[in-house]
Amino acid sequence: MKIKPCPFCGSDKVRVIGNDYFMRVACDACNVAGPLIMLYDIKPTRIIMTKKEGKEKAIEKWNKRVADEILELISKRTKGEASAKRIWRVGR
Ligand SMILES: [Zn+2]
Repeated sequence: MKIKPCPFCGSDKVRVIGNDYFMRVACDACNVAGPLIMLYDIKPTRIIMTKKEGKEKAIEKWNKRVADEILELISKRTKGEASAKRIWRVGR
């Protein structure tokens, strides 16, 4: 999965960092980090995902942009309204 540029500074100097316990995406240009993805549960102690899965999850979370979801919502809504208007016109 491709990592999107940093939402704060726009840099593409972003990479997944982590160890045996967590993964997250971090920006080397401005030092922000994305959500922490834990690879294990504490009680009872057990591995909940592999490093590879954790890496993918960290990138997925980092890549999430609220603006994309709003645009998708608007597009769904306007399509819905357009078809409602078509039905309305045909009905008349
Ligand atoms: Zn940055």
